[in-house]
Formats: sequence, C-alpha cells, structure tokens
Amino acid sequence: MTYNRDNPFTARLKFRRRLNGQASDKNVQHIVFDMSNSDISYKCGDSIAVFPKNNGSKTAEILSLLKIDPETQIKLPFLGEKISISSALGEYLCITNLSEQFWKWLAEIETNSAMGAFISDKILHSDPECQVLAKSYSLLEILKKFDGRCEVEPDELVSKLRRLTPRLYSIASSPLVDRNEIHVVVGVVSYANAIGNKRNGIASNYLAHDASIGEGIRVFVVKSMFALPANAESNIIMVGPGTGIAPFIGFLQERRYMMDRGDKIGASWLFFGDRNRTTDFLFEEELQTFKNSGILTNLDLAFSRDQENKIYVQDRIWEHRKELWSWISNGAHVYVCGNASKMAVDVENTLKKIAMELGNFAEDEANGFLKSLKDNRRYQRDVY
Ligand SMILES: Cc1cc2nc3c(=O)[nH]c(=O)nc-3n(C[C@H](O)[C@H](O)[C@H](O)COP(=O)(O)OP(=O)(O)OC[C@H]3O[C@@H](n4cnc5c(N)ncnc54)[C@H](O)[C@@H]3O)c2cc1C
Repeated sequence: MTYNRDNPFTARLKFRRRLNGQASDKNVQHIVFDMSNSDISYKCGDSIAVFPKNNGSKTAEILSLLKIDPETQIKLPFLGEKISISSALGEYLCITNLSEQFWKWLAEIETNSAMGAFISDKILHSDPECQVLAKSYSLLEILKKFDGRCEVEPDELVSKLRRLTPRLYSIASSPLVDRNEIHVVVGVVSYANAIGNKRNGIASNYLAHDASIGEGIRVFVVKSMFALPANAESNIIMVGPGTGIAPFIGFLQERRYMMDRGDKIGASWLFFGDRNRTTDFLFEEELQTFKNSGILTNLDLAFSRDQENKIYVQDRIWEHRKELWSWISNGAHVYVCGNASKMAVDVENTLKKIAMELGNFAEDEANGFLKSLKDNRRYQRDVY
C-alpha cells in the first residue's frame, strides 16, 4: 500500500517523553509512532509528514460562539464523505492563518456590523500595519473580539478556510532496528505574534500535549536524498544541534545494527549543541552509549549558554578544523541537519573558511569545492 497526502496511514501515538530537563526554557519531545500493519518502507534520513489536529477546546469555543451544532454535517471538497463541522475544524482546516479571501468574505457578510467595519478598515487595508493584523488574528480571536456576534453558514465557513497542511519531521530511528516504529524529535513552538497574542505551533503542540497516547494520527513518509553513504565503511561527519540531532540517532542506530551483525563500519563524528548542558543535552545517555560502543568515534559539544561567550557547533568545527579537513580530504561524508536560516549558513561558511585555510583555496575555489561535495552527495543537508 502506498501512503501519501491523499491516502495517509493512521499511526498510533505510542510514546512521548520530554528530552529537556524541567528547568529548561525549551521543550523538545521524543515521539514514537506505532506503524504496525502499515507495511510502510522508509530509510534513515527520510521524514514523516504528520497531519496535526487543532486544539479541541479552541474549535469547540469557535462553534459555541457561532452557535453552530458541532455535529452539523458538512462536505469538504477534498474528502469523499460528509463529516461533522467539529471534525472539519479540528482535523482538516486551518483556524489560525486566515487568507485574504476569508477576510473579504467575512467583511462582506458582516457589512453592517462593528466586526465588518473593523475588518474593512483595519485588516483589508493595504497599509503595512493592517497587513500585519491580517496575519495576526485567528478565527477564535476575531470572534471573541466581537463577542461572536456573527452569523455564518457552516458550509460557507468551511469553504473559506485553508486546508491544514501536514508538518514534516526527520525520522530519528532506523527501520533495521524496528520497522514498526518511527521516532521523531519535535521542538515545541510557542511565541507571541506581532500583536502580542500567544501562538502555539499547531503540530508541535498537538504532538507534545494534546494528542493522547494510543490516539490515531494521519501520517505518511516523505522520501529524502539525505542518506547514509552506500559504502558503510565511509566515514561520516554529522552536524546536528537541537532537533537537528534527529536523523543522526537513526544513522547511529543503523551503524550499530550493521556492526553487531559483523559489517565493517566507518568512523562517525557528531557535533551536537544546544543552550545548556544540564538541561538540553538531548539523547545524552544514548550518545554516551554510542560513544562507549565505538560506533560514535568523536562527539563534540557546544552549549551556547554555559559560558559568557556563546559557543556554537560551527565554533567546535573550526577548533577541530585540522582533523576535520583530514577526514574530508580522505573521503568523509558531511551531513548538516536543523536550523536553516542561521546554523546551516554558519556551518557552511565555516566549512568554506576551512577549505580556504587548509585546502589553500581562493574563495570561489572553496565555493566550487563545496559544490562538488554536494554534487557527489558527500555534503548533504536536511535543514528547515
Ligand atoms: C524537511 C523538514 C524536516 C523537519 N524536521 C523537523 C524535526 O525533526 N523536528 C522539528 O521540531 N521540526 C522539524 N521540521 C519543522 C516542522 O515541520 C514544523 O514546521 C514545526 O514543528 C512547526 O510546526 P507547528 O505546526 O508546531 O507550528 P506552526 O503552527 O506551523 O507555526 C510555525 C510558524 O510560526 C511562526 N513562528 C514560529 N516561531 C515564531 C516566532 N518566534 N516569532 C514569530 N513567528 C514565529 C513561523 O511562521 C513558523 O513557520 C522540519 C521541517 C522540514 C521542512
């Protein structure tokens, strides 16, 4: 059976634990999906796409404010059968990021009300500040602001909301160890938006708090080019701070499995980092066990907030540049996973600097060198 966006598999949420210590201001969760009976095939480096659900009390409050019976049956264009409006808002539609089309529709049906005037004057205006408002109000917030005084047809409401999209998570387990489980590492997103309203990331909070153990969750595997070298004897350098550690747990599990069955395995070097060692050393025990068993040859850590001057993975890479350059020169594969906007850029710049200093390359030659590593799949990134 092929599972995809239109035909996801319903996995059970099997296990969840917080990876940070209680005193941490971060919340990263180790989540396990039970994939029994799915026959899903995946490899280390692939991702799993998860269809999240909106917070149940929020959807109930929306329906209550709108005086719509939660069991009202409606039809969604992408689903065969009719479902209750409560399921539609809970599982299929986005109730936070509202489209311009949605605001226009609401302004139209509320032409003579305070809500309609507010939307027309403040949200649908081309003024940059109003554009911020358009992106900032959730459905529940706009209804509450006007005490839910708004009459909408259930079918029309659902037709104006965007479809809830699946979120990707890097798989943190090897199918060779247990193909009936998929592990992921989820950083819980929570922030105040541009108008100071609290926003909880939909999928991360669903997986971390709202979903109960045993609950069915729609998922499918997304294949990736991010993969261990075909030759198990190749050395690998892994850079994965924070949730970027995820695929490397799978890589190390897979290499341990291969070593246990007698295969010859190349050396592995992991650069991991986060804020504080005492609270944010994710998978500390597992990594120490990999190290003790010889599967993980080098482990270098960067805890940015444990000293006055922040230290990041790229600083550790730079400190170890001579050995690292020797690994790369001898054919090691380099993998980077995690934050795309900052970490992956800083790591790439550091690799470039190392190539310039130790490979005696001019800047454009160093860029060409990194490009050739990428082209040969010896420098791979899984960044988001
Ligand atoms: C290939 C790939 C692999 C991934 N692997 C992982 C993984 O292994 N682990 C993991 O945790 N995530 C991973 N992600 C990210 C993940 O898919 C989700 O994007 C993430 O969990 C947030 O989803 P959410 O539904 O909780 O948040 P959403 O409800 O989607 O909200 C997130 C959005 O909120 C906004 N936002 C977030 N923080 C702030 C802020 N401080 N200020 C203002 N706006 C903000 C941004 O617009 C952001 O896009 C991966 C993504 C990709 C593409």
